[in-house]
Amino acid sequence: MENLLSIEKSQPGRRGIRFEKTVHAPEAYLPQDCLRTSAPRLPEMSEFDTVRHFTRLSQKNYSLDGQFYPLGSCTMKYNPKAYDVLSVLDAFANAHPFAPESAVQGTLQVMYELQEMLKEITGLSAFTLQPAAGAHGELTGILTVRAYHDARKDTARCEVIVPDTAHGTNPATANMAGYRVVNIQSADDGCVDKAALQAALSEKTAAVMLTIPNTVGLFEKDIREIADMVHKAGALLYMDGANFNALIGVCKPADFGVDVMHLNLHKTFAAPHGGGGPGSGPVGAAPHVAPFLPHPIVEKHDGKYTLNGQMPQSLGKMKAFYGNIAVCLRGYCYLRQFDAKTLKNIAEKAILNANYVRAKLKGKFDAFFDENCMHECVLFVKPDDMNGVHTADVAKRLLDYGFYAPTIYFPLIVPEALMIEPTETESKEMLDAFVGALEKIYDEIFTNPQLVHDAPHTQPVERIDEVSAARQPNLRW
Ligand SMILES: *Cc1c(COP(=O)(O)O)cnc(C)c1O
Repeated sequence: MENLLSIEKSQPGRRGIRFEKTVHAPEAYLPQDCLRTSAPRLPEMSEFDTVRHFTRLSQKNYSLDGQFYPLGSCTMKYNPKAYDVLSVLDAFANAHPFAPESAVQGTLQVMYELQEMLKEITGLSAFTLQPAAGAHGELTGILTVRAYHDARKDTARCEVIVPDTAHGTNPATANMAGYRVVNIQSADDGCVDKAALQAALSEKTAAVMLTIPNTVGLFEKDIREIADMVHKAGALLYMDGANFNALIGVCKPADFGVDVMHLNLHKTFAAPHGGGGPGSGPVGAAPHVAPFLPHPIVEKHDGKYTLNGQMPQSLGKMKAFYGNIAVCLRGYCYLRQFDAKTLKNIAEKAILNANYVRAKLKGKFDAFFDENCMHECVLFVKPDDMNGVHTADVAKRLLDYGFYAPTIYFPLIVPEALMIEPTETESKEMLDAFVGALEKIYDEIFTNPQLVHDAPHTQPVERIDEVSAARQPNLRW
């Protein structure tokens, strides 16, 4: 059956619906020598076979609509379908980027109100919605830091300090922005080692970039003290707030000394994340840094919304036009839908769910840092005590139980890491089923380790040779 439906079963002359040639077909504007002279060689199939082929392919993939997706560090969470409909409303989706302000007051109002809400939940004094992704927000933020120091003629600052628990994009960002990256190792509890930080800080430090919660899922409990150390050295504190769903409504980064930060509207604020975008990584700044943010920032004067052109110290533009408005719209809907209490409850539930999974699996798959975690927990596998079973084997075996695999081998500082983010929107029943599957796998490790070594057994593609797959990928049908 599989083969009968496969696209390789193309038959000459077989096809789906065919329309008569359109009488008013537009002229082709391509030069004559760029035009095809013969039809492309495409599989010839009936409509049924084609639709079945693609439907079957789509069902071979895991998706949030089909399965639980416990992927850590990248929050695949609640993306209400209704927001997708709202974000493509004609007036938003078809607004011309050069339309005069008077014609796009609705779009500007949404942007303005979103900026205001992001200010409210972070305590910062200004937000730009321009950056198109989290990493783009980081670059924007660090260039804003540079503009701040430059304006003060404090130009000897050439280093950015990044702890080993930072997201991988943080050192890459600092490097892209022209800074030397100074790595510091974490303390035994998975948080910033304050002595190491103090030793690294100097008059050369432009900024310290902290991912909060960090990539081992922990909150920097001494953040207030750390911020003081950073400021004392004349540097700025940058916060990577991509995973703000652990903190929303619970605390405001401005209160603990953050000068600049980005949020990921995809991941935290209801925009579907995956498949490479589009995303949105708004950047917020405290009052002393705000004048250097990219423009435009939407302002409201006399009931009218306007793109502020009066930012003489702004670092300029980071993207054409306004930003990814469709993603901003989803974030706007999300924040408008829930009141402050509900937002806080979202964070608390994200934290509760991660700790529930961590506590249930204790003694089988332990947390690497045995602390209360935030929105995700980082467990690990011990091959020496587990019949040589590695994290990758456990992850593959989970597929047989109908679960997408968690993030594995990240963060790098945890050997054999298994990073689980349940998110706030999964039910207790789902979490119990997931924990149950991991418990069964744990038992199999001791009763039938080969079964785990050779997993998956139920998937369209079994264990692949990952080296060949990477070095000699076969991308053709
Ligand atoms: C996802 C993520 C990023 C990068 O965001 P992109 O939109 O993928 O560029 C940065 N930091 C953290 C902590 C993240 O989880």
